[in-house]
Amino acid sequence: MVLAELGGSISRALQQMSNATIIDEKVLNDCLNEITRALLQSDVQFKLVRDMQSNIKKIVNLDDLAAGHNKRKIIQQAIFTELCKMLDPGKPSFTPKKSKPSVVMFVGLQGSGKTTTCTKYAFYHQKKGWKPALVCADTFRAGAFDQLKQNATKAKIPFYGSYMESDPVKIAVEGVERFKKENCDLIIVDTSGRHKQEAALFEEMRQVSEATKPDLVIFVMDSSIGQAAFDQAQAFKQSVAVGAVIVTKMDGHAKGGGALSAVAATKSPVIFIGTGEHMDEFETFDVKPFVSRLLGMGDLSGFMDKIQEVVPMDQQPELLQKLSEGNFTMRIMYEQFQNLLKMGPINQVFSMLPGFSSELMPKGREKESQAKIKRYMTMMDSMTNEELDSTNPKLMNDSRMMRIARGAGRQLREVIEMFEEYKRLAKIWSKMKGLKIPKKGDMSAL
Ligand code: GDP
Repeated sequence: MVLAELGGSISRALQQMSNATIIDEKVLNDCLNEITRALLQSDVQFKLVRDMQSNIKKIVNLDDLAAGHNKRKIIQQAIFTELCKMLDPGKPSFTPKKSKPSVVMFVGLQGSGKTTTCTKYAFYHQKKGWKPALVCADTFRAGAFDQLKQNATKAKIPFYGSYMESDPVKIAVEGVERFKKENCDLIIVDTSGRHKQEAALFEEMRQVSEATKPDLVIFVMDSSIGQAAFDQAQAFKQSVAVGAVIVTKMDGHAKGGGALSAVAATKSPVIFIGTGEHMDEFETFDVKPFVSRLLGMGDLSGFMDKIQEVVPMDQQPELLQKLSEGNFTMRIMYEQFQNLLKMGPINQVFSMLPGFSSELMPKGREKESQAKIKRYMTMMDSMTNEELDSTNPKLMNDSRMMRIARGAGRQLREVIEMFEEYKRLAKIWSKMKGLKIPKKGDMSAL
């Protein structure tokens, strides 16, 4: 996963600071230098990193902090806040409303994943009850219309384009008009991408934008773009009114930090990220949960979102209630596994769960991990109700473990391994005690 390395380096720097007996100027500087290095290595723009470092130093003035202050907490909070600030342009993007048809235009370089992302965006909204439509105004790349048509057909989304017409403006206008007449509420216009920034591309984009008057222009950027990201994003912003960014290929091995610089360059928020080639490998992006994930703290709101998607409505309050009580029993773990297996694409969900991601479900080994979860579930099927509902770790003595192993036809060491996993998760999840339970559909409480 892109940025996993960055997240790892930052969490290590924080951990080292936490291990220090006294937090003085040197410990703080070491920690900040480590974070700075990690950000630069991930291709985040130099100026952004420098600003972030000096801001943290301004916030954390060790001399002014009285002895009683929890310096670690203050430093961690400052790092969290500054990372969030780097990703938050301070104003939300335009959000389409169902009451009035919206036109959303996609721009970006060729190969950035623009066409794929148009369909993902349409599909995402379609699942939420919208009536989206796709217009292919990319007349430059041979095969662009075929690709869009194929994707749209698969997702059962109406589309418009032409093999004959070479004027992208004409196609865009015709498509938008047609779908407005057909009462589509989200009309998505895919535009041409070129290999590099060229005047003709920008002129064409400007013309399509002038003719279709989009409510939102989304800039699509490949996460592997590196240090060129800032300038590229700025060049697009100068030609059309970019209002939001989508970063693609976050599932790859790129450093990815450059794409984060696009936020500063366009002064627009990242609204989604692409995490694979498939239609549903697409996630909403929110700054705070993302930074939490980056720092290894998990992403509860993303997880809650997924829970709302897949756990039947009537079972949700009960699960949330249990989580907020902070008593993580084996039964809850069992139910979580059941839900996870339903939620699919499973690695997406896992990275949102505190503690579940890297250890239990390493990237590229999803099949094995899934098998492991199923194995755990078989063993849990051999447990008694008392064992499943207990929060007393002493209950599970050797003879109980042996009985479970026999009952499930597994080795004792596998049962022990499962309990170790349970203890690890219970420790992490106990921190969720007091979790505010959002009302149905309302995630703002998190
Ligand atoms: P366009 O030229 O910008 O329209 O790019 P395409 O939509 O044709 O995508 C280029 C390639 O990137 C295709 O092979 C896509 O399947 C792939 N792609 C797009 N988004 C993602 C993503 O989020 N993850 C991965 N792994 N591949 C992606």
